[in-house]
Amino acid sequence: MTLLFTHSDCLDHVTPPGHPERVERMRALQEALTDERFALLDRRDAPLGADADILRVHPQSYLDRIVQALPEEGWTQLDADTHLSPGSLGAARRGVGGNVAAVDAVLLGEVHNAFVGCRPPGHHAETETAMGFCLFGNVSIAAKRALDHHGLDRVAIVDFDVHHGNGTQDLMWDEERVLFVSTHQMPLYPGTGATHEIGAQGNILNLPLAPMTGSAEMRRTYEQAVFPALEEFEPQLLLISAGFDAHAQDPLANLNWSTDDFRWLTERLCGVAARHCQGRVVSTLEGGYDLQALAASVAAHVSVLMENT
Ligand SMILES: [Zn+2]
Repeated sequence: MTLLFTHSDCLDHVTPPGHPERVERMRALQEALTDERFALLDRRDAPLGADADILRVHPQSYLDRIVQALPEEGWTQLDADTHLSPGSLGAARRGVGGNVAAVDAVLLGEVHNAFVGCRPPGHHAETETAMGFCLFGNVSIAAKRALDHHGLDRVAIVDFDVHHGNGTQDLMWDEERVLFVSTHQMPLYPGTGATHEIGAQGNILNLPLAPMTGSAEMRRTYEQAVFPALEEFEPQLLLISAGFDAHAQDPLANLNWSTDDFRWLTERLCGVAARHCQGRVVSTLEGGYDLQALAASVAAHVSVLMENT
């Protein structure tokens, strides 16, 4: 069984007109997953993440700052491209809560794997800095839940969003129980993710890709570097920062991946999980800004998760 966590609160994080990380992304995702072939999904409302969940990776002072910055109407701008609307905290808490509950459900054996389809995304949020459309480090919070609450020893995070997961890197920098692997376009926002950034414990693997990298080279990078690293690490749980903005149609970046590449990648990641962690995968939505490409890629990704149950 594949679990899907979403919540209508994620429609209440409203960004200014013209902003790529927009409410319509959530609608596109919801519509894509209403298709007949997703009838067997275990659909649940993402619970609200508690302060304690957020505080697994962010200090109280940061959470206080977000709470205090919430506008009563309109927007507060946190950086060049990160905004808060009145509903932003509620939406972001669903992403946190969905990730925590997904880890719980997968590790307790209620379901085989899970996809958390919430917004705003999370992988750019650093310890004390909201940035890149992100407020809380959802996937890092999920990793900490698995390690500290469930007592796992090794959790792998694979981030295939086209942008480097600088936030995850920051939050997991000296967490030796986590292997963080990121493929991303370079040069591109946020500018981090060079190969020499390996974490305090050698626990981070950055694999920058040149602009215009397509299927063949992407698959070669995963075959030669990502999958061997995962096999060697032998994770007990695989977390995915699933951004779909490496798609050729995406307006924010210049990689040339296809919908079928996301299908292939998900199949191969599920294969690693089947060998090392009883198929336990929790995937969470990050970027993806062409609505059509996002819908098709999410559908492909979730279909493969369902096939691997
Ligand atoms: Zn991205």
